[in-house]
Amino acid sequence: MDYDHIVIGAGISGLGAAHFAARAGHPSLVLERSERIGGCIHSHRFARCGDFWTEAGSHTGFNSYGTLLSVLEDLDQMARLTAKDEAPYRLWRNGRLAKVTSALHPLEAAVSLPRLFTTRKTGASVAEYYGRGIGRRNYRDLLGPAFQALICQPADDYPAELLFRRKPRRKDVLRKFTMPTGLSEIPTALAGQADIEVRTGQEVVAIVRDGPGYRVQLADGDELGCHYLTLAAPPNVVTRLLPDDLAAAKAAVGTVGMAEIETLLLAFRTSDLDLPRLAGLISVDDAFYSAVSRDYLADPEYRGFAFHFRPGALAPEARIATACRALGADPAKVVEVAQVANRLPALRKGHQAIVEQLDAELAGGRLAVTGNWFYGVSLEDSLSRSRQEHGRVFGEA
Ligand SMILES: Cc1cc2nc3c(=O)[nH]c(=O)nc-3n(C[C@H](O)[C@H](O)[C@H](O)COP(=O)(O)OP(=O)(O)OC[C@H]3O[C@@H](n4cnc5c(N)ncnc54)[C@H](O)[C@@H]3O)c2cc1C
Repeated sequence: MDYDHIVIGAGISGLGAAHFAARAGHPSLVLERSERIGGCIHSHRFARCGDFWTEAGSHTGFNSYGTLLSVLEDLDQMARLTAKDEAPYRLWRNGRLAKVTSALHPLEAAVSLPRLFTTRKTGASVAEYYGRGIGRRNYRDLLGPAFQALICQPADDYPAELLFRRKPRRKDVLRKFTMPTGLSEIPTALAGQADIEVRTGQEVVAIVRDGPGYRVQLADGDELGCHYLTLAAPPNVVTRLLPDDLAAAKAAVGTVGMAEIETLLLAFRTSDLDLPRLAGLISVDDAFYSAVSRDYLADPEYRGFAFHFRPGALAPEARIATACRALGADPAKVVEVAQVANRLPALRKGHQAIVEQLDAELAGGRLAVTGNWFYGVSLEDSLSRSRQEHGRVFGEA
């Protein structure tokens, strides 16, 4: 065989899988389709703004991310955890900024809240569970838009149990953190390890079984063999790549949708913005789901924002105008613009049955499948799946 372990996809799930394998004595080759590693972790540097960066995707780690923290300990990166300054989120509704609490219906919340403790989360959609637990009007005006802002896609049909998973917090670690030059430091540190080789610009187009191992076919016609294989790509790619003998799993994974997100990044000179510091915007009725600011790590010269737009809602120029309106900014004052395509799985009620079908067919084999579509979309959800698959395939806890 050419390689012991090949991983397809250099997002946090794939690099995490390579990390766990490499530390257990299985050198790993990671093949990444794009020219950049990190996937949804993407700290974008604005070329005309010195070192100033803004997160185009993932922006926050928490002290409840036990797997991520253990990986950062392995990498000797804990000293780089950087606190995020507190700032408020604002609602963007009817073309105006408002306090988040302005959308709350307190009486309805008080009457409904006890139901949150008696309503079953498992098997319920977000709208069903939270609509009951906090009241229909509170869900419509506040929680629904907030959840949609969080997962950058319509949230009503999302499985309630996958939105927030209770995870123990580590009291010795900052409650929420970033890194000094953005979260992209994490994939960079993972990929820089001795027993991990990462090749970018390598799209895998097919997988075939080869005895107990696998052969991986690349878009450029190359073919590589391996003893162990980890698929760490979105579900639409996994369904294409799964070997044909996993037919039922292939069909089940094929039903998982993907949400496209058109992310607009804007940088301004601090002096050109007359806007109080803010964490971000929750949009109730505009063409974007949410905006996340870089204000949590103040820069003396610049402020940056990532606006996450609904797919196809607006042309690029109109997106800039919309974002500037929400920020109360003059579009002529934008120093730099970048457009980034983000994608997240669009999970639906009943998703657990798809995972169970896949896991049943993977059992006993050397093929691992990981990603942000098993336990939820967070960095921790992604990494915990990678660690669990590592234990199953390599036989280590
Ligand atoms: C806007 C946004 C904000 C977020 N904010 C947070 C946050 O603050 N905190 C948090 O915990 N989580 C956040 N998340 C979620 C989290 O960042 C992602 O769910 C997680 O990073 C996904 O990692 P992944 O490796 O599973 O998938 P991805 O990051 O999507 O990586 C998959 C990789 O596979 C590659 N690939 C696909 N097909 C192929 C192929 N055929 N061959 C080779 N390579 C292939 C892709 O190019 C990609 O690099 C956010 C996500 C987004 C989009």
